[in-house]
Amino acid sequence: MVKQVPDTKRIIGNAMKEDGTVNRSALPAIFNPEDLHALELALSLKDRYEGTVTVLTMGPPSAAEVLRESLYRGADKAFLITDRKFAGADTLATSYTLAKAIRKIEPDFDLVVCGRQAIDGDTAQVGPQTAEKLGIPQISYVENIDKLEDGKITTKRVIKNGAEWVRCPMPMLMTVVESANEPRPPRAKRLMKYKNAATVLELDNLLHKFPEFQDQESLKNYLQKKGLLIPIITVADLKVEEERIGLKGSPTRVKKIDSVVLAGGELKIFESSDEAVQELIHELVEDYIVS
Ligand SMILES: Cc1cc2nc3c(=O)[nH]c(=O)nc-3n(C[C@H](O)[C@H](O)[C@H](O)COP(=O)(O)OP(=O)(O)OC[C@H]3O[C@@H](n4cnc5c(N)ncnc54)[C@H](O)[C@@H]3O)c2cc1C
Repeated sequence: MVKQVPDTKRIIGNAMKEDGTVNRSALPAIFNPEDLHALELALSLKDRYEGTVTVLTMGPPSAAEVLRESLYRGADKAFLITDRKFAGADTLATSYTLAKAIRKIEPDFDLVVCGRQAIDGDTAQVGPQTAEKLGIPQISYVENIDKLEDGKITTKRVIKNGAEWVRCPMPMLMTVVESANEPRPPRAKRLMKYKNAATVLELDNLLHKFPEFQDQESLKNYLQKKGLLIPIITVADLKVEEERIGLKGSPTRVKKIDSVVLAGGELKIFESSDEAVQELIHELVEDYIVS
């Protein structure tokens, strides 16, 4: 699972709309950084054990960009889950929709791999909630796959001050941390092959590149024949309860987001003496910095 996110390093005044949703047009869109590591982990498993890597994202039509990026890097298939009715989803509605989409697209999956956290919502809830809704076990904070044997996967997961090795039967879901690997760059050959991969929602913009096609329908047929049509999944394709998707299915309310800059405060220099150290400790305790 990969997500296109606004580049939160560049938060500016109008980054949120009045209804608490993200103002995507105000920020450049990027591939969620940890999802690149999740994709790399999935691709490296395919290198070691064979299999198929299917990438899916839920987002607006422009989110197809992260799918193309995934195809350039080695993904076999990509799907865009998009519909106005999915808009404004919080983690509950997002994970419900993603779980439904996974069951529809890859009913016999072995492994769902996602990033630990998205840099916009920043909750790290979507992975674990998706596992819950799929009714499968999960391992979070995965840094390495030791082996995959007899239908079980053995992983190293990072925890505070250490690591745990966990074995889990498949199908299962894992969330992957940034230290897991170095994502491979896009491959030049694949970039040339997939640079025109598109969803039906992008055909209008693509027509000028293909003057030999008069209309969207003929371009669509051509892309389909070449394996370049990225399928889209809408509400109508998933058997969802409509009150559980989009803004309607989202009990979370965002009040405000801000870019917080931590500025240095006053500077106080203590001498190197027992009395000065005592005074320093006293001040730290008084300011609730240590207890
Ligand atoms: C009222 C409200 C309105 C909101 N409106 C919007 C909105 O309009 N647009 C918007 O982008 N966000 C919106 N959000 C934010 C939304 O809650 C989260 O962006 C989204 O649910 C994912 O949560 P997260 O970013 O914390 O993901 P995390 O839980 O931090 O993500 C963990 C991992 O889950 C996977 N993942 C997460 N989301 C997706 C996805 N969409 N597709 C595929 N994989 C995914 C990725 O692998 C990711 O690394 C809204 C939130 C609220 C409360």
